[in-house]
Amino acid sequence: ATPGGPKVREEKILVTVRVRPLSRKEQAMYDLIAWDCLDEHTIVYKSPNQERTVTPYTFDKVFAPMCSTQKVYEEGAKDVALSALSGINATIFAYGQTSSGKTFTMRGITETAVKDIYDYIKNAPERDFTLRFSALEIYNETVVDLLNRESGSLRVLDDPEKGTIVEKLVEDIVKDGQHLRHLIGICEAQRQVGETSLNDKSSRSHLIIRLTIESSIRESSGRVKSFIGSLNLVDLAGSERVSQTNADGTRLKEGSHINRSLLTLTTVIRKLSCGKRSHIPYRDSKLTRILQSSLGGNARTAIICTMSPALSHVEQTKNTLSFATSAK
Ligand code: ADP
Ligand code: MG
Repeated sequence: ATPGGPKVREEKILVTVRVRPLSRKEQAMYDLIAWDCLDEHTIVYKSPNQERTVTPYTFDKVFAPMCSTQKVYEEGAKDVALSALSGINATIFAYGQTSSGKTFTMRGITETAVKDIYDYIKNAPERDFTLRFSALEIYNETVVDLLNRESGSLRVLDDPEKGTIVEKLVEDIVKDGQHLRHLIGICEAQRQVGETSLNDKSSRSHLIIRLTIESSIRESSGRVKSFIGSLNLVDLAGSERVSQTNADGTRLKEGSHINRSLLTLTTVIRKLSCGKRSHIPYRDSKLTRILQSSLGGNARTAIICTMSPALSHVEQTKNTLSFATSAK
């Protein structure tokens, strides 16, 4: 069904959940494991009071703590990533609270996707490929170029031909796999922080790595067929930024704690997954404007929701799983 590219499955939004192992810190605090992965699709909260029945959550896949990132990639991201080779716009997100494993997961996914893409290119000598790389960070609705921080805050504009563009964003032509890994390394180093805490910038900012893949092939008729697709690899701000609640459970008022881009993204994903032809508020945030052509329509999306298994994080984890449920 996808001419000129690898065979891939075609669900529109693939939603998976990855449970990380209990961390050393959680273990040191005698935290408990509060979740059971019943099978490859199902996870359930272990209620301390056994009489109460708890409803299991089901997803396209649930990855238990011992699952390798390779498996998470194969079953939760690969098809979406490779569809960019066939001229389809694709987006892979990690969504979850701070310290749930988003960065850990996205780095592994990015590394494996890059390897897979270059393996594919190597085995398709009949096609000419051009890869372009760009990377940006959104922090407080300010867009910064990770390949050229000096350019400061970049404007997001509507171009009549190209759609939404980020003005002056540097796009490097990728020479080969090694060059691509080098570029990714530069961007990751910018966000590197010792320990993840609620107040780290990395917990409040979104990182988007975009790989644009152009290719052309000469068919036997002599006609040249071209493809262009982009793969967006997105490490989101901590989801506590949308669901932060007061001690009494009520939602905090709009303010510095609420991340507009993340809130809008969750609304966009919910509306897309409903499939109704309602208004999709892409224009309400920088993140959703930048990703608009890679969300909905013919685009393909994979959302990997990351979670801690710890009892101490149960409330945030339930918020994550309820977002994941609404994205299915
Ligand atoms: P986030 O980006 O969501 O804030 P991180 O990816 O930084 O979280 O993960 C928090 C910590 O947990 C890091 O030390 C990371 O190495 C570790 N970690 C996350 N996921 C896993 C995993 N699946 N297996 C082992 N360690 C993990
Ligand atoms: Mg992180």
